[in-house]
Amino acid sequence: MMTNLTGFFTPWIIYAGITLLHLFLPGRRVTGYVRDSQTGELLKYRLNGIPVLIISIGLWFLLGFLGWVSYDWLYRIRWYSLAGASTLGLIFSFAIVIPYTSTGKPWIADLFFGRLENPPSGKRQIDAKIWLYLIGAVMLQLNVLSFVAHYYLVYGEIAPGVLLCGSMLTFFIWDYLIFEKVHLYTYDFFAERVGLKLGWGCLTFYPYFYLIALWSGIDLQNSHVPTWLLFCFVLTFLLGWILSRGANMQKYFFKTQPAKPFFGIKPQIISEGNLTLLVNGFWGFSRHLNYLGEILMGLAITLSIGYPGSLWGWLYPLYYILLLIPRQMDDDKRCSTRYGNLWKIYTQKVKYRIIPYLY
Ligand code: NDP
Repeated sequence: MMTNLTGFFTPWIIYAGITLLHLFLPGRRVTGYVRDSQTGELLKYRLNGIPVLIISIGLWFLLGFLGWVSYDWLYRIRWYSLAGASTLGLIFSFAIVIPYTSTGKPWIADLFFGRLENPPSGKRQIDAKIWLYLIGAVMLQLNVLSFVAHYYLVYGEIAPGVLLCGSMLTFFIWDYLIFEKVHLYTYDFFAERVGLKLGWGCLTFYPYFYLIALWSGIDLQNSHVPTWLLFCFVLTFLLGWILSRGANMQKYFFKTQPAKPFFGIKPQIISEGNLTLLVNGFWGFSRHLNYLGEILMGLAITLSIGYPGSLWGWLYPLYYILLLIPRQMDDDKRCSTRYGNLWKIYTQKVKYRIIPYLY
């Protein structure tokens, strides 16, 4: 009973710890892409994702090393921890929606999508979206470490597939936090409000669902995936990363230093008035090549564990497909309103939405 209760509150304690680290560790102050809806000024953010991640991993390791908290504690209490995180995610989501003025949509839509784009924060010391993504990323990393540690404690070795799956998820998390600033230029920041989708999503779904391949495969024996096949999964993951990171970086360079080439790709543009769009490089193949990259990375993570017959793992790439196709549709609608005729010209030039020559 005591373990269940401690397990339930473990994410609460971890989230409080991450919040304190985020508040007190030094951070870079950066100007973002989104404007304050009242003053029209560009919002400023404080970013310190990587130091918070390093200290959190260090604490996990130290507690295990001292024998105070077993390395695989988060694995052992995973279901209680999931319940605790989920409860906290719900409380947060209700608290960030209910007190604020309705958007005019039914309250259930407001609850899911949120009412505030950028919830107020004292002197912008903590930005709600940055905080949510940071919690999600760090907790996912701790879960991944704990699950892999569990495998080692049970079998006395780490199967290559498990190691690869854990490493790719770790790469994914570090990549996100290293490029934290670039993400200020993404849809989540300029088009989404904070409600259940983002709140519960980051406090629960992100740190617990994203490792579903590991979660469902960790209790299984070494699947003995041949090395050449593991190598193919690595290549798929890297290809996905290049497409996703490459497209995001090319757009980021374009928005911040419009004339500067990115990796030797000189920006080619179409423009009308002061509106401009990129039409070459990653943005010349399809209108959301980065989404394809994300799906490929998800696929590689799922396959790496070596149990393609287990349906649970497939939920991860499937989730990306279900998330990103409607998102592409929404974004195209948004861009069509914002860019007008220029968007029409762009869609005629770059016909494919996500997958070149296919979709
Ligand atoms: P994009 O990075 O594609 O951004 C879309 C925006 O970019 C548009 O609204 C428009 O914004 C601008 N834009 C579109 N076309 C052009 C162009 N040709 N030239 C210049 N600007 C253009 O989408 P997201 O923000 O949705 O995704 C960002 C990243 O986050 C992707 O890699 C995605 O895969 C990833 N992601 C990851 C998730 C995860 O859980 N791992 C979940 C969701 C996304 P503007 O009006 O400002 O110009």
